[in-house]
Amino acid sequence: MSARPAGAAALLLAWYDERKRDLPWRDTGDPYATWVSEIMLQQTRVETVIPYFRRFMADFPTAAALAAAPEDAVLKHWEGLGYYSRARNLHRGAKQVAADWGGELPRTAAQLRGIAGIGPYTAGAIASIAFGERAAAVDGNVTRVISRLTGFAGEADSAAGRAEIARRAEELMPPERPGDFNQALMDLGATVCLPAAPDCAACPLRTCCAARAMGDPRALPVLAPKKKPRPMDWDVLLLRAGDRVLLRRRTERMLKGLWVFPMAEGRREALDLAAEMQERLALPVRNLRRAGEARHVFTHQIWNMVIWTAETEAGADAPEGCRFAGAAELEALALPTAMRAARALAGRILEDTENDSV
Ligand code: SF4
Repeated sequence: MSARPAGAAALLLAWYDERKRDLPWRDTGDPYATWVSEIMLQQTRVETVIPYFRRFMADFPTAAALAAAPEDAVLKHWEGLGYYSRARNLHRGAKQVAADWGGELPRTAAQLRGIAGIGPYTAGAIASIAFGERAAAVDGNVTRVISRLTGFAGEADSAAGRAEIARRAEELMPPERPGDFNQALMDLGATVCLPAAPDCAACPLRTCCAARAMGDPRALPVLAPKKKPRPMDWDVLLLRAGDRVLLRRRTERMLKGLWVFPMAEGRREALDLAAEMQERLALPVRNLRRAGEARHVFTHQIWNMVIWTAETEAGADAPEGCRFAGAAELEALALPTAMRAARALAGRILEDTENDSV
C-alpha cells in the first residue's frame, strides 16, 4: 500500500482551514505558549487542559518568569493534571532556556531536543508550529491517522514503528505550513479518526485512505498490549496536632515534590499502624480511628487507600521532610489527586477543631 496517498496534505489543510478547533494556544505566535500547551496536552484531554493553560500563562507568561518561580508554585498550578514529572521538567527546561538561550526558545527541533522534558514529539511540534520547520510531531493521534492513511501494519509503538510513522508523516508534509499540517493531523485524530469509531464518511482523507480501502480502519494501528495497572493497598494517616495536620513532601520519583499524608503500603490493624507510624515519625500517635476509604487509578498503579485519623501533641515539631499545615496551608499546597478524599476529610477535621476552640 502506498505511503504517499496523493493529495492528502492539500485535503487535510483545506479541512483544517474550515474546521480547526479554536484553542487558546493556537495562532499566538508564541513558541513558549506552544511549548507549555504541548506538555500539558500529553496524556491529557484538550478540555481539561484549557483552564490550566490559561492560569499557567497568566502567572508564568514567559520562560524567564517560569524559570524564576519556586517549584511549589509550579506544582500547585499543575495540581490535578497528573503526570507531575511534566511540570518539573518544564520548570527545569525553562531554567535552561533562561540560562543558555537568553530566555528565548531555540528554533530547530534538533536544538529543542537538548532542553529538559522536550522529546521528539514536543520538539517537532514547537519547531513546526512556532518556527515553520518541516519536522514531524508524532503522538498517539498522529500515529493512528498516519497508520491508517498509509496502511502501516507494523507495530506502531515500537521504536522502529515510531521512526517509520515519523518518516511517513514527514514525507506527506508539505513544504509550506508544516505546523498547520501537524495540527491538522492532531485534530483529525482527536475528532474524526477516533480509535474505536473512525468517522470515515466525514473524513477529508476518505478518498485516499489505505485502511478505509482495506475495509476495517479499526484494525490499525497495531499496538503492543498495554500492561494492566498494579493494585496496591495503602494506609493513609491524617495525624492532627491541634489545628494542623501532618504532610510529607514526596522524594520518590512518582509524584516527586508533591505533598501527601503519611502513608504505609499494605493493610494493618489499628494498633500495628499506630506503632509503625509512631516509630517512623518519632511522634506519639493516639486515638487512631478508621475514617474512610479512597481509590485512585494511575497509569501503572491502582491505589486502594484506607484513611485513618489520629492525634499527636498540639505543639509537636514535624519530622524531617514533613510539615504540619493548618486549613489554609492545606489548600495552598500542591497535593496529588490521589489525596483528594483524604484532603477533604482533613479539611473537615481542621474546621471542626477550629469551631470547637471558638
Ligand atoms: S478515512 Fe477513516 S480511517 Fe482513514 S484517516 Fe479518515 S477517519 Fe481515519
